[in-house]
This record gives sequence, structure tokens and C-alpha cells, in this order.
Amino acid sequence: MAVSATGFDFSDALDVLRRVFGYDSFRGTQKDIIDHVIAGGDALVLMPTGGGKSLCYQVPALLRPGVGVVISPLIALMQDQVDALRAVGVRAGFLNSTQDPLQRREVESAFLAGKLDLLYLAPERLRVESTGTLLDRGTISLFAIDEAHCVSQWGHDFRPDYLTLSALHQRWPTVPRIALTATATKATHAEIAARLNLADARHFVASFDRPNIQYRIVSKTEPKRQLLELLRTEHPGDAGIVYCLTRASVEKIAQFLIDNGIDALPYHAGLDTRTRTANQARFLREDGLVVVATIAFGMGIDKPDVRFVAHLDLPKSVEGYYQETGRAGRDGLPATAWLAYGLADIVQHRKLIDSSEGNDAHRRRLTTHLDAMLALCETVECRRAQMLAYFGQQASPCGNCDTCLWPPQSWDGTIAAQKLLSTVFRLDRERRQRFGAGQVIDILLGKQTPKVVQFGHQSLTVFGIGTELREGEWRGVVRQLLAQGLLTVEGDYGTLVLTESSSQVLSRQRRVLLRREPERPARTVKAAKTRSATPVNLPTEAVPVFDQLRAWRAATAKEQGVPAYVIFHDATLRQIAAESPASLAELATVSGVGENKLAKYGQQILAILTA
Ligand code: ADP
Ligand code: ZN
Repeated sequence: MAVSATGFDFSDALDVLRRVFGYDSFRGTQKDIIDHVIAGGDALVLMPTGGGKSLCYQVPALLRPGVGVVISPLIALMQDQVDALRAVGVRAGFLNSTQDPLQRREVESAFLAGKLDLLYLAPERLRVESTGTLLDRGTISLFAIDEAHCVSQWGHDFRPDYLTLSALHQRWPTVPRIALTATATKATHAEIAARLNLADARHFVASFDRPNIQYRIVSKTEPKRQLLELLRTEHPGDAGIVYCLTRASVEKIAQFLIDNGIDALPYHAGLDTRTRTANQARFLREDGLVVVATIAFGMGIDKPDVRFVAHLDLPKSVEGYYQETGRAGRDGLPATAWLAYGLADIVQHRKLIDSSEGNDAHRRRLTTHLDAMLALCETVECRRAQMLAYFGQQASPCGNCDTCLWPPQSWDGTIAAQKLLSTVFRLDRERRQRFGAGQVIDILLGKQTPKVVQFGHQSLTVFGIGTELREGEWRGVVRQLLAQGLLTVEGDYGTLVLTESSSQVLSRQRRVLLRREPERPARTVKAAKTRSATPVNLPTEAVPVFDQLRAWRAATAKEQGVPAYVIFHDATLRQIAAESPASLAELATVSGVGENKLAKYGQQILAILTA
């Protein structure tokens, strides 16, 4: 039996889950992982964002003697993590570079006096010997290595300090280690195991499916208008993230949203630290803000009620896309992942790859990533199944992505492809000047633009042979030929160039199947709108109570200087509003209401319900 000075007295893991966190049962593999670590085993845990990784080390830390040491690169979020734990009665502290010596000493003495259950540590603290000496003098119950993919040199989040973590085992051989990440590919998995010396650890690989996220990829026509429509019709007042490729577009889009009455904040590495920190803090603390950001934003953001993630530019890889969209809907409630992409994205990415530093092997790897991303964009199959397949997991059509909901028709585009490829071929023969998709399409449509006339392209035999398709459709054909490797782009102006496979199409040896953009029925958007305006499982008559509870939560969070979700999650407030418990005992059965929060807020909530 483990006793903590906070007054908890636990019989087992389930007891901790129920009394501290207020949850009924473990999810998926949580229980197996927890049992394994409690017994002293090492573990490598791959679980998607929102899967519930934190409990996998928090529960064992409360049951094993000593302090659980959590290594995390997320310095800016440590205070929130610690606040969230304290809110449920767990004694937590952190050590990182943001503290002054006095604050650090306080935490250190709490650690030595056995007055902590969990200690969060920035990896660079382990570089200084004094940290090692400190840890030697206390009792460590386990090491949790969070965001373990940061040890991967080829990943996008590499932190050199993570390489030193392989030494933990040498210095404290009897302390169990649990490494956790939401990054799923085989290559990263293997690299983590090797670099952290976790080959002998038990590996727990969860399903990477996030069924509550609806994946949608649309073709980019008027990105700003499309984004605004998404926000207005489906996510009014919701918190969300909009990703853009460049700092300039982040600024532009944030301003555009503000001009249109949406509470938006920019976030990118070019902003000064204070603005960045302030914007991140506001996003976490306030309800219903939209952050417009580069991918510099997001790792470790554990705001549970992000209702949408929108991409206005094409992500570099499926892995990145999955990570970024995974920040939506951690609370398990419906969320939207929406991406708008167009031909210009492909041109821009190819350009970036061509001009990127590093050797050919590096460029080839980037190209492979991009190709997989394009294939996902242009698939006629279930997006989710394709994404999971990318991570080596099998799945059947999900029913909650755009291709499942509004199946695109495929059509035989062989002739269209031949027309397009022969136009590229004709232009390519001119050598001196190379042309992008715009010129090719103008020629196909028979448009006498100044540039067509300037180069005498109206006299080409292919001039005007493609009037059966509209311009937008031709752009779709180009994108899909690019995605299928039947065409490629080069250089600064996105010159279209034939590939080795193009000749198979031109010589009629290969059929080309293309996807037709589905007509999206208006009623489905309306259905989505009602879904978002009235949260799931919330009867209409409970909406006013829910709003009152949210207002109470906002005030309480502000008073304590913590994010609203630290007080209670939306899902918890929703259940309270829907069930309207009449006593503390009834309130205690609501998911997310543990003993500490019940004691602290129980009466206030009952008062709101009976008012
Ligand atoms: P991850 O770190 O894997 O992204 P978290 O640990 O933040 O996920 O958990 C995601 C959400 O799910 C959190 O809001 C958490 O409180 C909740 N959660 C985790 N485990 C359970 C469980 N067994 N029952 C109910 N909710 C849970
Ligand atoms: Zn699907």
C-alpha cells in the first residue's frame, strides 16, 4: 500500500485512477503499461496524441516509492503540467532554466525531503553534475522520457541533450524507464530504442487511429474564403489551430481573421519570445481562440478542446501532418482536420527540396516524404486507412473522412493526361524557355494570352485541344499526374517536366485513373454546424447550464492563473450539465471528478445546478 503525504492511501492502480483522476477505467494498453512499470520493467510506449500517455507514468509514480522524474523538452509548458497535477492533489514540481536559484532550491529540498510525487526536468539539467548528485541523494521511482522522438536525429524535433539520456540506465540501473512518443514510423521507433538503450524494454504500440478526428482535404481555390467559411459554418467560437508554411503568411492570415471578427493570434519563430509565450499562454488559457502558426507551434500543447486544425499549405510529410492534426480533439469529442492544397504547393515544396541543404540522400528522403503526402491528398480511398497504412497499421474505411463521406468518382483520364503530357513535351522541345502549369493549361484551353502570343504558342498543334475541361479541372489533372509520378516540376518557376513513366501514357501503354472533385452536399455542412453548436450528448435544455458552468470555470481559472482545462475539461462540464447530479456522491461519479476536485469545487457546482 502506498501512502502519499497528501493524504491519499491507494490500494492499486485502478484506485489511483478513480480517486485522483476521477476516471472509471483504463484505456487501451494503459493498464498493461502501468503494471509493467510498477513491477520495475522498462517500457517504450508509442501512442497517438490524446491516447493517454501521461497516466502511464503518473500512476506508477504514485504507487512506487520515491519520486517519478519526468524528462521533457517542453519547458514552456512545465508550469501548466505541474498546475494540472496539483489540481488533482498530486505533489509535483519542475526544474528548468526559467527558474531563479531560489525557486530551484525550493524544489530541490522538496525532492530531498520526499515531498514530491513527480519532478519534471528539462533535459539540459542533466548535463550539470549537480543534478546527478541531487538525484543520487533522493529516491527515484521511475524515469519517464517524454517526447522520446526528440532523440531521433532525422526527426524534426531533434534535441542534442536527449542523446545523453542513454546514460540514465548506467547511473541508475535499478530505476525503471518509460519512454513515450506519438511519433509512429518504424524508423523513428527503431532509432528511439537504439539510442536510449531500450532494446530490452517492452514495446507497447497502440493503434494510431484517432476516430473522433474527421479528416478532409480540399483543393485550394480561394484559401482565405475557404478557411473563413470553415470557421464560420462549422466552428464558430471554437478553439483551433491554422497552420501556414511561412511567417509572412501567418501574419497575413491572422490579420485577415481578425479583420473578419475572429479572435486570432499569430505564432512563429520570428516573433520575440515574449509575444510568442504570451500568445501561447492566451491560447491555452482562454476559450475559443484561433492560433495561426508555423509548425514551430504545437509540440506538447495538451489543450484538450482544440476543435479544428486547418492547414492552408501542404505539410512536408504524412508524419508531420499526422502530428499536427493530432492536436485536435484530445478530449475525444468530434474535431476537424482540414487541409487545402493546390498546385502551387507542390511547386513550392519541390523548390524548397531542390534548394535544401544536405546531400542527395537527404533530398531523396524529402522527396519520398512529399510523394507520400501527395498520394494522401489525391487518394480516392479512405484517408485514415491510407494514413494508418503509412504507419504500418491496417484499417478498413472509416466513415469519418471526406473520401468515405463523399466518395469521389474516378474517371478515365488517359486522354486528358495524353493531351497534357504532349503539350509539356512540345514546350520542352523549345528548350530555350521552360513553362509552368499556367502556360500549359492556357494552351490546352486555346487562350490567346499575351504570353501565349509572345511565344507563338497559338500555332502549336496542341493549341485548344483541351476545351472539354475547365481550368480548375486541368489543374486537378496536373496535380494528380504529379502525385502519380507521371510528371514532375523543376526550378524556380515550377517548370513542368516529363518523367520516365510519362512515355507509357503517351504511347498508350498505361491507363490513368483520375479523381473527380466530389460535389459536397450543403446539408452535410449544416449537420456539422448543429453538431458543433450543440455539443454531443448535451440535450438542448442543458445548454444554458453548460454555459454557466463554463463561465464559472473561466472565472475560477483566471483567479488561479491556470488554463481552464486544469479546472475541468469540457467533457466533464458537459456530463455535469447533462446529468445534473443532485449530491456530492452523484457528482463524484462524473468522469474527470476526482477526490481533490470534488472537495474543492463540489459545493460550488451543486450551487450552480440548483440556482
Ligand atoms: P497524450 O499525452 O497521449 O497526448 P494525455 O495523457 O494528455 O494524452 O491524455 C489525453 C486526454 O485523455 C487527457 O485529457 C486525459 O485526462 C484523458 N485520459 C487519459 N486516460 C484516460 C482514461 N483512462 N479515462 C478517461 N480519460 C483519460
Ligand atoms: Zn475514411
